[in-house]
Amino acid sequence: MAEETIFSKIIRQEIPTPLLYQDDLVTAFRDISPQANSHILIIPNKLIPTINDVDQDDELTLGRMITVAKSLAADEGIDKNGYRLIMNCNQHGGQEVYHIHMHLVGGQPLGKMLSI
Ligand code: AMP
Repeated sequence: MAEETIFSKIIRQEIPTPLLYQDDLVTAFRDISPQANSHILIIPNKLIPTINDVDQDDELTLGRMITVAKSLAADEGIDKNGYRLIMNCNQHGGQEVYHIHMHLVGGQPLGKMLSI
């Protein structure tokens, strides 16, 4: 059984983080430590620790994460100039919170995709 993270508490609003969006499958809120002018996290309500733990039953949820990201990008006014969606996996991917999440970042030029 995977261990809950702070994100489960945010989903249940036990930690009162302002939500930008929530439905039966996903929740979105601003990253507490923004790396760009716009930095939003879109997460599944279901606890999935890493992308390695995703299975076919999660395909609707993963698709919803993208359609919600698209809508939030429009709400933020960053859709025309563009933005980046990022999902980190495990140590080499730089994952810190073990409840999968999609970073929506934009609002400024983001430079090269990777800096290693
Ligand atoms: P990752 O490195 O992909 O696991 O990203 C985890 C992200 O979660 C980081 O960008 C953190 O700033 C963000 N984060 C951690 N705790 C919170 C929180 N309580 N509210 C919002 N964002 C958070």
